Amino acid sequence: MNENKWESYVRRVVPYTPGEQPKESGIIKLNTNENPYPPAPGVRKLLDGFDISKMRLYPAPDAEVLVNAIAERYNVKPSQVFVGVGSDDVISMAFMTFFGSDKPVLFPDITYSFYDVWADVYRIPYQTKPLREDLTIDPDDYKTENGGIIFPNPNAPTGVLESLEMIEDIVKSNPDSVVMIDEAYIDFGGKSCLPLTEKYDNLLVIQTFSKSRSMAGMRIGFAIGSEKLISYMNDVKFSVNSYTMNTVTQLCGAEAIRDEEYFTETVGRIIKTREKSKERLSELGFTFTDSQSNFIFASHSEKPACEIFNELKKRRIYIRYWNKPRIDNYLRITVGTDEEMEALFSALEEILNG
Ligand code: PMP
Repeated sequence: MNENKWESYVRRVVPYTPGEQPKESGIIKLNTNENPYPPAPGVRKLLDGFDISKMRLYPAPDAEVLVNAIAERYNVKPSQVFVGVGSDDVISMAFMTFFGSDKPVLFPDITYSFYDVWADVYRIPYQTKPLREDLTIDPDDYKTENGGIIFPNPNAPTGVLESLEMIEDIVKSNPDSVVMIDEAYIDFGGKSCLPLTEKYDNLLVIQTFSKSRSMAGMRIGFAIGSEKLISYMNDVKFSVNSYTMNTVTQLCGAEAIRDEEYFTETVGRIIKTREKSKERLSELGFTFTDSQSNFIFASHSEKPACEIFNELKKRRIYIRYWNKPRIDNYLRITVGTDEEMEALFSALEEILNG
């Protein structure tokens, strides 16, 4: 087909592909690292009593109630907290704000597959650094000249957790660029590098309510860093859209983060199920990294990952598979409830022994 002249002005990108959200009921959904448990009970109560006349009004542009609740939970000043519509929104804003150099931004070759898409859409040069054979990060790779650094800890989709010492080594070696640590999965067994933000004003830590707080559908993410970093991010955010987060979400988020007991209990349950699942997968002939997240990144010694993925799908069990170099024989399995995992293991037994 002929191109119109205006098409040469189009900002073209190859978009990120999110995991499938199948419409059918009765499936077992272990493909997008959602939490199998409902949000904290206070969220239900809040929604039941919500006065819908509040919807007439614009939401608080600074999301004050939520920002204050997050600041209190993490013992920082509200001026050190930035909130966004999911951590995707937060990271996207952070790319736009901090990665304005013409030097390349660095991230691992195997990592969250949205980073290169944001770099492309904002025309940010980037370079990927190969993970070592055991899927860990080599900190020396991040000591070359760069326009910024980002990686998740634990990394996704590998689940591999890096130490705080290693993260500090990278931050310390890069005083001239912003280092972002994407802690989407940190609550499932890792130690957050948040305390390092007191020492390094170029460190931005990003977290989400989508995983450990069971609220992927509400879209809440946040970043914590020095007041200077957060103020630059707010300048950009208020130059794009002041009212990103709606009123209901702001209030529900604040309710959720105040319930520490529920959070500890549900996260604990997921960790227990994950560790049991590792044993079962091992018995079935899988090898995997020692995931510290709410998913397991596994490979089978005999059956190709792609075949297992398709066979599970036929049985209405959804997990995630990427046909990409270095990871095309791995499956990423979200940790669900004990019952969901039992159904997965029965299906796997059938597929592997059938
Ligand atoms: N970072 C990583 C590493 C992720 O896996 C995800 C989930 N897709 C996100 C960020 C974004 O999560 P959300 O936008 O739901 O907060």
